[in-house]
Amino acid sequence: MLDGLEARIDPDRPVTVRAYLPEAGETAGRAIDAARTALGHLQAFGLRPVGDLEVRRLREADWSAAWKRQFPVLRVGDRIVIRPSWRRYRRREGDVVLALDPGAAFGTGLHPTTRLCLRALERHALEGRLEGARVLDVGCGSGILGLAALRLGAASVFGVDTDSLAVETAAANARRNRLARRTRFRSGSLPSGAPAFDLVLANLIASLLVELASLLAAELRPASRGRPPGRLVASGIFVDREPDVRRAFEAVGLAVRERETEGEWVALEAERVD
Ligand code: SAH
Repeated sequence: MLDGLEARIDPDRPVTVRAYLPEAGETAGRAIDAARTALGHLQAFGLRPVGDLEVRRLREADWSAAWKRQFPVLRVGDRIVIRPSWRRYRRREGDVVLALDPGAAFGTGLHPTTRLCLRALERHALEGRLEGARVLDVGCGSGILGLAALRLGAASVFGVDTDSLAVETAAANARRNRLARRTRFRSGSLPSGAPAFDLVLANLIASLLVELASLLAAELRPASRGRPPGRLVASGIFVDREPDVRRAFEAVGLAVRERETEGEWVALEAERVD
């Protein structure tokens, strides 16, 4: 099953494999010797030429500075600005700014699938769907989507992630943006155990969306008293897998209402049709 996360090799360009090793003890030295020997053996397989092994010593400070340089201030859609917490940004009128420290968690606004969800949130805000909404953020990562939803008018966010480090990062980002009182982040997955939601965000991968389809549907509020039904925003769908996700959604009574793409990634929005 291809979910779009596989590495692809460009035959016209050399491939570089980089490994980072802690220097403490003798382990690094031994690993380097072993790698050099193994690369020598690899030549025997008639692959493309294997170059010399380059070894460089990095200082911790350089590494963290280099890492931070990778994260610029990002504008997504018309109004959303993702500001890495260590950068300055002069706010313009109408901006919706989130200060984020991604830590080790996914969700910096850099990935097309995250951007698709942020743009969907912006559209929901314009349509008046977010005002007072209760939001579930499935696979919250750094918390970027749920926190953006709050900034755009949602009332509260419940975030879950199977990675406890992501949960801690999301909670820290909520505090950083003074949104903690309206959030709850919990380690784990679905079902949430909470009452049904107005909006469910799930930026996962196709195979997980298929697996979780019925649990996702069950988190959505049905239409009631003139209010439209809850919406699922499902993203992280590699275009080849879109039919599988659509089929799984239909099988659990979800109707697809919107489709957005960026590059080879698709986001679908669905509602319950019961
Ligand atoms: N919402 C963020 C992060 C998306 S990455 C963004 O849009 O940028 C997907 C996240 O889902 C990861 O943090 C991963 O730990 C989490 N995850 C993976 N499987 C999960 C599952 N079964 N239930 C909940 N979270 C899951």
